[in-house]
Amino acid sequence: MKYNPTIGIEVHAQLLTQTKLFCGCPTRLDSPALARRRDRARQVDWKAPPNTLTCPVCLGMPGTLPVINKKAVELAIKAALALNCKIEKISNFARKNYFYPDLPKGYQITQYEHPLSRNGFLPVSPSQGGKVMNKKIRIRRVHLEEDAGKLFHEPDKSLIDFNRCGVPLIEIVTEPDIGSSKEAYEYLKKLRQILRYLNVCTGDMEKGHFRCEPNISINYGTRTEIKNLNSFKAVEKGIEFELKRQAKILESGKKVKHVTLLWDEKNKKTQEMRSKEKAEDYRYFPEPDLPPLIISQKWIEDIKKTIPELPDAKVERFIKSYKIKEPDAKILCEEKELADYYEVILRLHRDAKLVTSFITEEFLKLLHEKQINIQDFTLPPEELAGLFNLIKDGTITRKIAKDVFPEMVKTRKSASLIVKEKGLKQVENKAELEKVIKDVLKEHPAEVDRYKKGKFQLLGFFIGEVMRKTGGKANPKLVNQILKQTLQ
Ligand SMILES: [Zn+2]
Repeated sequence: MKYNPTIGIEVHAQLLTQTKLFCGCPTRLDSPALARRRDRARQVDWKAPPNTLTCPVCLGMPGTLPVINKKAVELAIKAALALNCKIEKISNFARKNYFYPDLPKGYQITQYEHPLSRNGFLPVSPSQGGKVMNKKIRIRRVHLEEDAGKLFHEPDKSLIDFNRCGVPLIEIVTEPDIGSSKEAYEYLKKLRQILRYLNVCTGDMEKGHFRCEPNISINYGTRTEIKNLNSFKAVEKGIEFELKRQAKILESGKKVKHVTLLWDEKNKKTQEMRSKEKAEDYRYFPEPDLPPLIISQKWIEDIKKTIPELPDAKVERFIKSYKIKEPDAKILCEEKELADYYEVILRLHRDAKLVTSFITEEFLKLLHEKQINIQDFTLPPEELAGLFNLIKDGTITRKIAKDVFPEMVKTRKSASLIVKEKGLKQVENKAELEKVIKDVLKEHPAEVDRYKKGKFQLLGFFIGEVMRKTGGKANPKLVNQILKQTLQ
């Protein structure tokens, strides 16, 4: 039977602020707020042990009062604008009441009836059967809320770490516009990419900085929600599993229950966690300790100006101005830092074709092998431009450049110094090449014979042999020319 899947997704993204949403506690190890606290505590080796990034406010002590973090509001507005949402001039905070050990106040401060922003959309272009579709996923709302603590379960006890309590989050909720696991994957990848471009969230799923909870139904029936999806792959697999599970239930004539499911990564299946709460179970009510959040048009305009060129626009511009292919442009724009790096090189070395192929091949391969993030890659782009100049002026071959590049990363020496020290300069001495070519032809009489009888494709074979003998240093153009002459 053919079922009609309806999928909506809630994403919780941790905002990259220095401090928490309603108190001055540091949110992460490298924040200046933490450095100040470290001085105060005179602790030299700070590793944020459990429950040290806390204060009476985020521990929910009676009588404490929350104060909103302006930076968190700014980042939330920035994200909402990039997702084409309308920013509400007045929004409110609410208490969502529930008991759980990781929530010391007994309620979470969130936004309910009057969220920060609504009615956005994110265009995605998933491919289906080899065809690329264009689709807009509508965003229902983007609102601010605080994170809860973390529980660690051991065989005989459970431990609580409140360091995460009060860390600012944005919740991004879509309309149920997503029609397949593939579309969900595309949407999440794009959303994460944009948040990273904006420097609003690290997007790290493993660390829980970017958490997705899809809700799924088929044929407009009862929805279920999946939690504990810690990677894009898990989201895809989890949705597929759930769609099949619901189809089976309907086929057997039973009804799908309104439940929250937990993804079991090891066994690749979902488990029922609890029956789903309804909104009224939480007894939402307006947060009495926080005034309405009033946002001026001027502030919105100012934030708008800080939004960088976003991935889609950047890809389009790269294709147009550098005359490169779309798949390459997409790879280059995957991360803003890579795109920036590429453009700095291009300002110094104008052969976009060469730079593009080197960056998308050798460069990314090395980063992948050495597990270096582009954000942590410290070889200046100027140095790489120097390498490309050596290829362009014929000092080295592209093949040699492939070996020089890792040396540059390892030794920090310039490309020209490495070429000089290792004697990698291209062989352009005609006499020298003629000798090598003569040797090669002597070693392969059968091939020479076949070439002479019309099998001209063998030229590539001979060139390869010459390259091998010269350690890739022979000028390919010259080799080609001499080979043809000699063979004739
Ligand atoms: Zn605190």
